Amino acid sequence: MHDKTLNGLADALATRQVSSVELTRHFLDRIKRFDPQLNSFITVTEAQALEQAAAADTARAAGKAGRLTGVPIAHKDIFCTTGVKTSCGSKMLDNFIAPYNATVVEKMNSAGLVMLGKTNMDEFAMGSSNESSFYGPVKNPWNTAYVPGGSSGGSAAAVAARLAPAATGTDTGGSIRQPASLSGITGLKPTYGRVSRWGMIAFASSLDQAGPMAQTAEDAALLLNVMAGFDERDSTSTNIEVPDYTATLNNSLEGLRIGLPKEFFGAGLDAGVEKCVQDAIREYEKLGAKIVEISLPNTHLSIPAYYVIAPAEASSNLSRFDGVRFGYRCKSPDNLEDLYKRSRGEGFGDEVKRRILIGTYALSAGYYDAYYLKAQKVRRLIKNDFDAAFAKVDVIMGPTAPHAGFKLGEKAANPVSMYLSDIYTISVNMAGLPGLSLPAGRADGLPVGLQIIGNYFDEARLLNVAHRYQQVTDWHTQLPAAFA
Ligand code: GLN
Repeated sequence: MHDKTLNGLADALATRQVSSVELTRHFLDRIKRFDPQLNSFITVTEAQALEQAAAADTARAAGKAGRLTGVPIAHKDIFCTTGVKTSCGSKMLDNFIAPYNATVVEKMNSAGLVMLGKTNMDEFAMGSSNESSFYGPVKNPWNTAYVPGGSSGGSAAAVAARLAPAATGTDTGGSIRQPASLSGITGLKPTYGRVSRWGMIAFASSLDQAGPMAQTAEDAALLLNVMAGFDERDSTSTNIEVPDYTATLNNSLEGLRIGLPKEFFGAGLDAGVEKCVQDAIREYEKLGAKIVEISLPNTHLSIPAYYVIAPAEASSNLSRFDGVRFGYRCKSPDNLEDLYKRSRGEGFGDEVKRRILIGTYALSAGYYDAYYLKAQKVRRLIKNDFDAAFAKVDVIMGPTAPHAGFKLGEKAANPVSMYLSDIYTISVNMAGLPGLSLPAGRADGLPVGLQIIGNYFDEARLLNVAHRYQQVTDWHTQLPAAFA
């Protein structure tokens, strides 16, 4: 059963080949058997999952099932879940049980999906390798000496090893697409504002966005149908109609204009990755697409500007973790000052502290104009580059990440080399655009992702473009041998 896509499992449930309880047990058994090698889950909600599954079977028997009723899913541990620990990968929230569900979780529950558990992640979603989690690193199912990417590395590894048919993720600078690329799955970061962020623990509020991580574009479309939409509780969510993302999956790509930014193919791109991307582009030409060379001249500024904006916003968002209102509190503080200092000092890990320091500095009196404001101006230049490109092309393609996977520990001691993992993804968040990564080959035996970037609210086209490629290739169907 686990070799089926989400769509395939929905069919199996609809035709009564399997019940939701059987399916849920199957995935829970796989988690028990294989997750000790991967560490992709922080919490497994076995009892609750079996209850939800039984309710799904009852709903189906009563003729009240939707397309995804009874299908299991895993949620990144950044989404608040009633009664279940929501840690955000941090010691700070190791004891936090949210009193409410995030909108994304609520929507999934209403659609009848069954939550298997909460997936591991970089602490507060800061990282590109899943090594900053308080709960230990996640391993890449294709080679457990390698990282799965981050920060949604638990979701990526769980889906790649088929411990869950699909999962949710969040992407502030690449955290859905980069782990999707390194783990060999399909991940979509929707347009900023497309999916509600209510109940999703904030990292950098002007950049954060939730999206689906799945085996195929078709599965991502099914999930986006559930996740997307206006939410009055999130003031950044947009009130634009949600199309049926599955309706246009098979549209022809004849005449599709694909922009290739020359800045995405320069120094720093691994030759094996480049070859996979070029091969994928040839496939698209066969499908009728036209290639247009474009330029995104400010790409090189995206990482420096991001590492001012994201830490600045993070330092503000994370100020709520003070040892008083909720979360970790140090033992026997001497006074209030000591309580704040030690709770934060003991509760946060190194990467989070580094970001808080950078962000607090950038926002301090006298520096705001020089750093934050300047970075916001660079951000506008990046958006302008994309606007100019989308006047000429329908989608933009390139690598998702400059390399296939890297080894655990390889970049952990060098934050800047880690930050460079997101060189092709961060500008998309800076502009608020949607982006998708799909499996497009292997380099040194490890998965490589092709990135497709679309115009605002053009998720349907991204999914269509990805789906057509998946109709003529089979990278997305491959499962690492050790987890078959
Ligand atoms: N790797 C980037 C960072 O550490 C992006 C993380 C993300 O998208 N959440 O900030």
